[in-house]
Amino acid sequence: MTDRITHLIHHPYQPPGGFEAPQAGVFKASTVFFPTVAAMRSREWKDKSAYTYGLHGTPTSYALEERLATLEGGAECLLVPSGLAALGLVAMSLLKSGDEVLVPDNAYGPNKSIVEGELKGWGITHQYYDPMDPQDLEAQISSRTKLVWLEAAGSVTLEFPNLVEMVRICQRRKVLTALDNTWGAGLAFNAFDLVPGAQVPVAVDISAHALTKYPSGGGDVLMGSVVTRNPSLHLKLKLTHMRFGIGVGMNDVEAVLRSLPTIGLRYRAHDVATRALAVWAQTQPEFVQVLHPALPKSPGHGHWMALTGGEEGTAAGLFSVMLDARFTQAQTDAFCDALKLFKLGYSWGGPISLVVPYELETMRTAWPAHLLPGTLVRFSVGLEDAADLQADIAQALEVLR
Ligand SMILES: *Cc1c(COP(=O)(O)O)cnc(C)c1O
Repeated sequence: MTDRITHLIHHPYQPPGGFEAPQAGVFKASTVFFPTVAAMRSREWKDKSAYTYGLHGTPTSYALEERLATLEGGAECLLVPSGLAALGLVAMSLLKSGDEVLVPDNAYGPNKSIVEGELKGWGITHQYYDPMDPQDLEAQISSRTKLVWLEAAGSVTLEFPNLVEMVRICQRRKVLTALDNTWGAGLAFNAFDLVPGAQVPVAVDISAHALTKYPSGGGDVLMGSVVTRNPSLHLKLKLTHMRFGIGVGMNDVEAVLRSLPTIGLRYRAHDVATRALAVWAQTQPEFVQVLHPALPKSPGHGHWMALTGGEEGTAAGLFSVMLDARFTQAQTDAFCDALKLFKLGYSWGGPISLVVPYELETMRTAWPAHLLPGTLVRFSVGLEDAADLQADIAQALEVLR
């Protein structure tokens, strides 16, 4: 080798192994080298025994997958570029023309958009069920039902379903369940062991999670995961994942790995501040209803208590308020505009508090019986001081007085 550039590109230096530090290294690759053609031909890419190509993973993504599977009580994990991609992967992998999927009427809006805007065109039908009525879910299961989506709590209206009963129904009827587990984040309850000690485990089949929220915690990364416990189900999802090439970037994986150790502390801190604000919000006359599963008057409070261990249990940092029906949408918007610490923006789980006014009538098949009439505003509570956040809401309420 005489050319200096060739020498540079094929530089023989190998740093010493055994480097150990608090944070895992960032291994980035599209290409992965094989020592021989035989090794290339015999490489098994479907498990974590080796490396094949960047899309199949590097030590960095393997590490995050294993940690997330542990966090959620599952066995295997796939990483995808967003929480929404996780929902899409599950649908694309498990549903075929002629199948039907059941979706709760309070589902994360873009998941409804997947079934209405994409699956429908592929000959896959859907039904919306009442998330607060397991009997309604059971009544809608037919021989064509191949997947039931679950969400606890609902991401905007925060009613808490009888998750245990719904999973039991689906287990009895042998229908796959997929939980959008973003709210619980693997912390509020174990989706793969909903009734600890039960003789037959009460478990969802799939947990999809927007890592964009708590695992990232920074408001700066988009990523999703799909965790399972059944090896053949994982393989089915993995094949779809590979065929469509929906891998993730290792710098983003590193950002999530860096935040993950503090997820428990952050979740608890968001929870404590959110509950304080939700309790206070109940005393404000403009808010006719406050939605947060830890509030006794919030829909599904008993289900949240039973699943998470009651007052000792945890809840995500979201609460919604229903503004009295006498206020117009324009007045509600003005209230949101008047907030200073709460920024207008989607998503949650980051350090900065956020607010979004929702037009609920455009999101539901019918106005839910458990919600009073009015206009809904959802708050995502960040890591600011709760008293400052309360003062911010109080000053914004002045525009309504
Ligand atoms: C944010 C969110 C998603 C989607 O996550 P993205 O990473 O933003 O695509 C899915 N489900 C729920 C409940 C969410 O809150």
